[in-house]
Amino acid sequence: MSNKPANKIQDLQYFGEFGGVNPSISDSATYTFLHAKTMLDTFEGHAEGCYLYSRHTSPSNLYLSEALAAMEFTETANVSASGMGAITSVLMQLCGAGDHIVSSRTIYGGSYAFLKNFAPKFNITTSFVDITSLESIEAAINKNTKVIYCEVVSNPLLEIANVEALSKIAKKHNIKLVVDNTFSPLIMSPQKLGADVTIHSLTKFINGTNDTVGGVVCGSQEFIDSLRSVNDGAAMLLGPVMDSVRSASILKNLRTLHLRMKKHSENAAYLAEHFEKDGLKVVYPGLESHPDHKLFKKMYNKEYGFGGIMTIDVGNLAKANELMELMQHNNLGYLAVSLGFYKTLFSASGTSTSSEIPEEEQIKMGLSDGIIRFSIGLDNDIERTYRAMRKCMTTVGVL
Ligand code: PLP
Repeated sequence: MSNKPANKIQDLQYFGEFGGVNPSISDSATYTFLHAKTMLDTFEGHAEGCYLYSRHTSPSNLYLSEALAAMEFTETANVSASGMGAITSVLMQLCGAGDHIVSSRTIYGGSYAFLKNFAPKFNITTSFVDITSLESIEAAINKNTKVIYCEVVSNPLLEIANVEALSKIAKKHNIKLVVDNTFSPLIMSPQKLGADVTIHSLTKFINGTNDTVGGVVCGSQEFIDSLRSVNDGAAMLLGPVMDSVRSASILKNLRTLHLRMKKHSENAAYLAEHFEKDGLKVVYPGLESHPDHKLFKKMYNKEYGFGGIMTIDVGNLAKANELMELMQHNNLGYLAVSLGFYKTLFSASGTSTSSEIPEEEQIKMGLSDGIIRFSIGLDNDIERTYRAMRKCMTTVGVL
């Protein structure tokens, strides 16, 4: 794979209707037509450039969608009200009653809960597999399988999906490879490695300011059109639509994503290396000790590094809680779920963002209750942060 910059966002030119340097925000739920016939054509999907109703699409949402499609090298994209809105509409679009999904077992707890508890109401079943074992993925595929689903860098265990190999399996069985790239925007370009559909929770790194939830589906024009179809499109009919004011603000934040990702990665790499040297159980894809370090290096756009997320296993939940409370007390970050913020965020995944996964499953996949997931912030002086964090670790007896 080439190491060309993944960020083509700077090349896009958008102007407001009065020549403003930012596109105007479309503040309308519905749109007028000069001719009644054009309205009918728009309903049938034949009227290029016309807007119908903002649940279908809106100018502001299209601007953001096109910028994200450029980032992901896909033909087009569709933004949604949340990452879950994107994930659920894609899976409901691709699968119907009787269909089957092969999913990585280490995925965000909400995605897991949807597949495990919600999709079965529509008779859509899922086999959860170890995504690093290509044999077990292929073995789980049956004649009803429609989708392989995984996160490129998994939440919270930071397992790496071999997108190229998974894509070969998917093509062989004529099924779709759907990947969630939330942890690694710009770092990974799954479409270039053969993914059919790439999803993001925009809530995280892409927006970066923790002021809204949002999501996007990046894919072919044909697939995005199907999601938006007035007759049977999951995005159109389930209605997880993003508000235009929000898409305008996310578009503005997207312009600094390349700078932020580099800094998140630089800071996380510094802490991961130092804490590993100190003898802590650190998991970070940039460390040679990470089982998929080589695979990550084969796949990534080097200039953006190994990402802003690392985990440290401090042994048990009580220690994890004590440490997190102390770090928050010392203003080293916030004890909060989510990720991709300017401030470091930490949470014990097993009892928070992965709590939907039953305990015995957590144990099987290696998610122990002492694991703290860190989303490393944009601290200007990471050496100082390291020293202060280390002090907290000594105080609670982790070091
Ligand atoms: N995908 C991943 C990897 C996530 O971590 C999350 C949320 O934590 C989601 C999807 C869901 O996104 P949202 O909270 O925007 O619905």
